[in-house]
Amino acid sequence: MKKLKIIKMGHPTLRKVARELTLEEIHSGFIKNLIQDMYKAMQEATGIGLAAPQVNYSLSMALIDRNFDEPEDAPPQDPPYEVYINPKITVVDPTLSGHWEGCLSVPGLRGFVERPRHVRVDYLDQEGRPKSVEAQDFKAVVLQHELDHLIGKLYVDRITDRTKLLYEEEWESYLKENPKEEGKSLED
Ligand code: ZN
Repeated sequence: MKKLKIIKMGHPTLRKVARELTLEEIHSGFIKNLIQDMYKAMQEATGIGLAAPQVNYSLSMALIDRNFDEPEDAPPQDPPYEVYINPKITVVDPTLSGHWEGCLSVPGLRGFVERPRHVRVDYLDQEGRPKSVEAQDFKAVVLQHELDHLIGKLYVDRITDRTKLLYEEEWESYLKENPKEEGKSLED
């Protein structure tokens, strides 16, 4: 196992469009190991998603924790993550829905981002099989956040109201003063 370092905003890899993987690459030991190492890095950082560019591989691949939206007493999923390779996103319902987002590559900050509330993602799984998933609400946010990493975008680029980009310490008191704005938040 290789210990991967999560790179931060300012590193050029986070701003590149990641290249797609070939089927041969998907079946390679290199990618299988990278998936394992990314899962470990994501767990250690307590993130719910991690995209390959965040560990300095400009490849079109992201992991999402499968247990993040399960009830706490639900049995753990096996494998505990989903792998999205060469994903393409389609907006199903463009109605915007806002959530507080954080990012392992932008540590210490939270920002309020509005995104389409319902999307479809066509992708390859870790065996190279074509898959399609529709997601709404929070799962749609997680997918859009992760897939943005594959096109060189960070959530901070998507914030329309810059007064809602806060340090985490301030965010907690901000929510106390603005309880209506509390909602689910994610960090990935
Ligand atoms: Zn992120």
